[in-house]
Amino acid sequence: MCAIAGAFNVPKASYIIRQMLYALNHRGREGAGDVSCEQLPDGTSVFHEHRGVGVVDEVFRDMDFEKELPGSCAVGHTRYSTAKGSAFQLESLQPFTSVIRGTPVAIVHNGNLTDYQDVRPEFERKGAVYRSNSDTEHFLHLMARAEGSTFDERLMHALQQPRGAWSLVIMTPDAMYAVTDPYGMRPLSMADYQGGHVFASETCAFDLLGVRPSLTLPRGTVLKMTRNGFTVQRMPNMADFGRGCAFEFGYFSMPDSYPFGMSAHAVRERLGRLLAETAPVAADFVCSVPDSANAMATAYARAVGLPKEDALLRNHQAGRTFISPTHKAREFGVRMKLKAVRELVEGKRVCVVDDSIVRGITTKHIVELLRQHGAKEVHFRIGMPPVISPCLWGIDTPDAKDLIAANLTRPDLKRYIGADSLAYATVEQFRQALQDEQQEKYCLTCFTGRPPEEQFVPEGRLTRR
Ligand code: AMP
Repeated sequence: MCAIAGAFNVPKASYIIRQMLYALNHRGREGAGDVSCEQLPDGTSVFHEHRGVGVVDEVFRDMDFEKELPGSCAVGHTRYSTAKGSAFQLESLQPFTSVIRGTPVAIVHNGNLTDYQDVRPEFERKGAVYRSNSDTEHFLHLMARAEGSTFDERLMHALQQPRGAWSLVIMTPDAMYAVTDPYGMRPLSMADYQGGHVFASETCAFDLLGVRPSLTLPRGTVLKMTRNGFTVQRMPNMADFGRGCAFEFGYFSMPDSYPFGMSAHAVRERLGRLLAETAPVAADFVCSVPDSANAMATAYARAVGLPKEDALLRNHQAGRTFISPTHKAREFGVRMKLKAVRELVEGKRVCVVDDSIVRGITTKHIVELLRQHGAKEVHFRIGMPPVISPCLWGIDTPDAKDLIAANLTRPDLKRYIGADSLAYATVEQFRQALQDEQQEKYCLTCFTGRPPEEQFVPEGRLTRR
């Protein structure tokens, strides 16, 4: 998962991008980049670029934005490590820039192309030269080869080729394009800002600027912004229904964000309440695994009528353990990240609420930690359903063989983590929390193992149950 941002026709655009990326840093901490477009007095324009490894604060430390990245338009990106451990390349840091048939282009992408591995060798055979291992670069090749006499025609043609998930912001000297895939799998929103417009993966980026979102981009949209206003085109291959990523609500987005136009906090709260109906607990108190499960735990505790205590603390210096390359490193990271408060835990029956179990490392460690601190019983409640399938569309869950819920029965899983009880929300409850009982808005493939029928799934990449 990554974050993308765009600023069109706003003062100090690159600095605004940096601010938005800072608010979006939870979506990717491996690297960040910012490309601005400066209009020169002679009517031409020039791109200025900066990318680096690390968190946003580090990448842009000591940067003089007005000198080094001048201009009133800019795009930015924060990159998430891949769980599959594919080699990191500096060349994979976005934004990507190129000149496509005479038009300078900068592009940022959130999502994953599912046909890219199959298509790239064919493109290379025909002479395409790739400089990275990122599927985002593929969009540039698609645009370069597309049919049409104008940039807009070629862009529309190019966007009909790939399969998978994408939200894009594309900058040219004259325009900015905000794009969603035909199923709208990845979120993208817009806000009005200081006479211009800003785009971001999550609306929490706008809060930092003090503005409210003005538009949630629907699926299959190409919104083109110029200094004369904007036009909206719908993709001819737009799906009849949406497949917004449900994981955004349960884990990925900040609780103050509105992915696909709905409050992430509200969905988490509903999940906690629904879970309490089917999986109540006999315990002394409830605590959350900070921070992503906070809202679920509060709602769960309220619904079962138990106090909620801050019995688990998180070291905020620790990054995301989830994406460390080896099992050992992840275990070590989890140990560094979480602490328990003996004063609260000793002699108590503790009910822990987390949003998900993926490999099971975090859950197992928390049970051990609480027992070491004298807990009498440890009960686990999980606010999302079991993750039984990898995601091919941008959530970096591991292969099916590493997904613990796909490999162990529920009793074996409870034994493995060492808890006194274990319960999850169900897929139906998640749909209810998302207010999508008709199954026409969201993708829950990681919980069902059944991808949307129309989606392209490369052989053997998903485990079906
Ligand atoms: P694990 O230890 O592998 O079972 O990971 C579960 C923990 O990682 C939970 O506490 C989640 O909050 C968090 N998590 C779940 N999915 C992701 C993801 N795609 N990226 C980063 N962290 C995640």
